[in-house]
Amino acid sequence: MAVLWLDDVGSDDIDDVGGKGASLGELTGAGLPVPPGFVVTAGTYRRFIEGTGIDEELFEAVDVDSDDSSALAGAAERAEELILETPIPDELKEEILDAYARVGDGEAFVAVRSSATAEDLPDASFAGQQETFLNITGDDLVDRVKRCWASLFTQRAIYYREEQGFEHHKVDIAVVVQQMVDAEKSGVMFTSHPSTGDPEVIIEAAWGLGEAVVSGSVSPDNYLVDKETAEPTEVTVADKKVMHTKDPDTGATVEVEVPDDRRKARVLTDEEIAELVGLGRQVEDHYGSPQDVEWAIVDGEVYMLQSRPITTISKSSGSSGSSQAASATDGSGQQQQQNQNDVILKGLGASPGIVSGAVRIVDKLDQLDKVQEGDIIVTAMTTPDMVPAMKRAAGIVTDEGGMTSHAAIVSRELGVPAVVGTSNATRELEDGRVITIDGDKGTIREGQVTKKEEESDPLEDVRPKNPVKPMTATEVKVNVSIPEAAHRAAVTGADGVGLLRLEHMILSTNKTPERYIRDHGEDAYVEEIVNGVRGVADEFYPRPVRVRTLDAPTDEFRQLTGGDDEPKEHNPMLGYRGIRRSLDRPDVFGHELEAFRRLYDMGYDNVEVMFPLVNDVEDVLQARTLMEDVGIDPDKRSWGVMVETPASALCIEEMADAGIDFASFGTNDLTQYTLAVDRNNEHVAGRFDELHPAVLKLIGDTIETCREHGVDTSICGQAGSKPKMIRYLVNAGVSSISANIDAVRDVQHEVKRVEQKLLLDSVR
Ligand code: PEP
Ligand code: MG
Repeated sequence: MAVLWLDDVGSDDIDDVGGKGASLGELTGAGLPVPPGFVVTAGTYRRFIEGTGIDEELFEAVDVDSDDSSALAGAAERAEELILETPIPDELKEEILDAYARVGDGEAFVAVRSSATAEDLPDASFAGQQETFLNITGDDLVDRVKRCWASLFTQRAIYYREEQGFEHHKVDIAVVVQQMVDAEKSGVMFTSHPSTGDPEVIIEAAWGLGEAVVSGSVSPDNYLVDKETAEPTEVTVADKKVMHTKDPDTGATVEVEVPDDRRKARVLTDEEIAELVGLGRQVEDHYGSPQDVEWAIVDGEVYMLQSRPITTISKSSGSSGSSQAASATDGSGQQQQQNQNDVILKGLGASPGIVSGAVRIVDKLDQLDKVQEGDIIVTAMTTPDMVPAMKRAAGIVTDEGGMTSHAAIVSRELGVPAVVGTSNATRELEDGRVITIDGDKGTIREGQVTKKEEESDPLEDVRPKNPVKPMTATEVKVNVSIPEAAHRAAVTGADGVGLLRLEHMILSTNKTPERYIRDHGEDAYVEEIVNGVRGVADEFYPRPVRVRTLDAPTDEFRQLTGGDDEPKEHNPMLGYRGIRRSLDRPDVFGHELEAFRRLYDMGYDNVEVMFPLVNDVEDVLQARTLMEDVGIDPDKRSWGVMVETPASALCIEEMADAGIDFASFGTNDLTQYTLAVDRNNEHVAGRFDELHPAVLKLIGDTIETCREHGVDTSICGQAGSKPKMIRYLVNAGVSSISANIDAVRDVQHEVKRVEQKLLLDSVR
């Protein structure tokens, strides 16, 4: 038999019908109102792959190194191809379609959902993705069943099993096919208080199909109900802007606006609440434990769509890191808190602004497509290939990293609020959960901000608070890492770009330089750089744009195509990066310098060349020679170095003699190397102090030496946006300060204040 009816199955059949199928069978058996349906069993999946003989090739195809993302992508693609393109044996197809013909009127719209059987895996949802197709009819049914089977072999599922050491061929999948309920209202119910276990029922309800509630795309009404009397004790009616419904023409599930008269109307009547509570009691009695139930109402009939035990009772409510408490569930069964005032996680406020959105967990696999406009990306650490998704996102949260990490730098430039270094956001949050992040305070709260005044204006920090740009003797420039931020940077009125990081342009191609050159040729590589720099140089012309040659540590390169060839380093921050790598690979470095030469030939005389992570005059002389080798005359162009190591600060005099025009303090690195504090390690973030006397002494002495030798000084590290650092630098006689986009205007005012005070002091 290819299928089993929900009427006939229960928890004993879990191996054949999966967790979802077993739970629906249990509810049906207990006499609860469950929409009719059947399960295409795990055995049927097995018969398909073995009967058609694709099993061997399938399991061979997915046996890959999980750290090799392109191999993983290829494996997932091949597995999907095999499953979707291999015809299903006629007898299986007939059995499935025969069963379908017996649901409803024989032409019913059904929901098709994967039901993972891998109960021995700690997280079965990874083993088989929670694939769901709504409003399907007979024509598409077999295809959707196969797509559920294929969901066993998504990149994420393969990766998970490889990482956990589970064998692909031992995992099966069932598929639940169930009549759709054209819900007028739907939601979730906790049959007891999810944190305390008290006899309080919590119901959440919204208009239309349940997907809007479970995915968190709408804030539902919330009803707190006395379990004994079934009477509501507290009702919070939400403003429900959208709902999901079936398009009457196509049958597809669509999101539509809630009609005005129902947006702020209460969804559930007291009678409906009483009925739900009654059913909740039955479910709880049946299982003998408090349950989290999905329900729907159509034509006055209440249906139970899903039930799972609540696992959070007795955990303290609202405690940091508790991911389950009163609220909705998502499609994979995780429960979500809803109390907006609870800070559920803390990190470093890395990019200002307060925003709300649905969580999208992004791991190192290619899951960027799922990030939609307005979502909040939650990831271990962002990488350059995430930038397009970061632009779409409303906010960014990371587990790792400090104020100078990739996530912090890029989100500031994009004007996207960010909280970094939370340690465990990817584990504590789950897809679809709606959170509010505060990029100033570094907090993450449950739910949506409701107060209008808390909604952040993404341009607020850029719009001049004082429209008149103060004239300062010390130049105030701006840092740019992603060329897309050039316009936003230029309209700040900055005196130029103090740091344009080249690596973000290269890395956003998702290939290491070596691989890019191999795949596309040297000329394409040079043009990639020329075009990236040009965009910024055009925006600022004739204001100077200081472009830094490539400086990415090998761990950043490793994530890209070609990254396997990168040397494996215990401590990439102390390793093969910056000028050291460039001088070691003059063939690759030469192409970067060639890009500068082409830009000069095109008339971009506002472009300056800056070398990162130099230690001494040897580094500088070699770099200078390589510039000359491609035809750049160092005496005619403005070029210089970053002061990022104590060695470079201590050796600055010899470098000045070698002809540099400027030295720019990279305080992100100078601080980490002076204090031995890893800038990306959230555990020592409290020790990362750019104003430490040792750092200031290196800076102060370097400025003094440079002044004596007619070399300009600047700062382009993150600390250039800090008032205390500005005061120190201007007093020490720095030539320019380069700040974050959002800080430029404040820095201009601070510089002006310090300069005026210096003038006043000199005449007093
Ligand atoms: C610095 O080290 O301060 C700097 C600006 O360079 P990056 O942050 O790119 O290392
Ligand atoms: Mg640096």
